[in-house]
Amino acid sequence: MDRSRLYRIDAIVMHRTDVGEADRLLTVLSRERGKLRVNAKGARKIKSRRAGHIELFTRSKMLIAKGRGDIDIVSQVEMIDAYRGLREDLTRSTYAHYAVELIDAFAEEGNEQPEMFDLLAEGLNWIATTAMRNLPLTARFFELKLLTIAGFQPQVFVCADRGEALIEVAPDEYYGWSPPAGGVLCPTHAHAPGRSDASRLSLSALKVLRHALRTEYAAFTALTIREAVSSEVEQVMLRYIQFVLERKVKSVEFLNLLRRETDNGL
Ligand SMILES: [Zn+2]
Repeated sequence: MDRSRLYRIDAIVMHRTDVGEADRLLTVLSRERGKLRVNAKGARKIKSRRAGHIELFTRSKMLIAKGRGDIDIVSQVEMIDAYRGLREDLTRSTYAHYAVELIDAFAEEGNEQPEMFDLLAEGLNWIATTAMRNLPLTARFFELKLLTIAGFQPQVFVCADRGEALIEVAPDEYYGWSPPAGGVLCPTHAHAPGRSDASRLSLSALKVLRHALRTEYAAFTALTIREAVSSEVEQVMLRYIQFVLERKVKSVEFLNLLRRETDNGL
C-alpha cells in the first residue's frame, strides 16, 4: 500500500452506524484531526478480536487509509482502553452517551483538538470508575471543563452584567442566573427592568460552580452536597449549555427518562 495515503490517529468511537452488508461507519474524536468519520470496512463480517476495538466508547490507535471519496478507511486498529465499566452498567453508559453527545456538539472537524480529546478520554475513565454517587458531580465537572476548553466558560466569579464583585447574599436571597448575560448576576442586575431571562441561583449552587472551576477532579467529586443543590446546579448548567448550543442536548432527555424510571436518581 502507498504509505503516503496512510495516517495514524488516537481516536475514541463516539457513534457507529451500520452501512451496507458489512461496513460500519464510525464517528470518532481524534487527537490529531478532531471529529472524523471513517469506514471500518467489513467490520461486521469479521468475528475477530478486532471487532471489540471499534466498539462504542473505546479508545484505539487507528491506521487510516485515505479513501477515494470523502470517507477514509480504517486499515488497522489497536485498542488502548475499553472503559469496561461503561459496558457493565446502564447508568454509567447513559452518562457516557451524554458526555459524548456534548463533545460531539462542541468538537470541530479537521482541527487538532488535544485538550478536548484528553478531556473525553479522562471523562470516560471517570464515568467508568468513579463511585456511583459521584456521577452527577462528575458530569458537572466535565461540562464546565468542556465549556472552558470550547471558550464558553460561564462567569461565576463576578456579576456577568457589569463585572462588579458579588456580595454574599442572605440565606433567603438569591443571585440570578442568565445564560444570555453569560452566567451569574447580582440580585440588583438580576431584577433590573427589562431583564427577564434570569432564573434564581442560590449561594450554595454558586459555590459548587466556583469550586468546579478552581479545583481538580478528585477534590471536586469529594464534595458532599445536598440533593437540592445538586439538582439546582444540574438545572442551571443545562440551561447554560442549551443556550450555548442553541439546541437541546438529546441525551439529556434520555437521562431524564432514566431518572423517572429509577428511584435513586442520577
Ligand atoms: Zn451586578
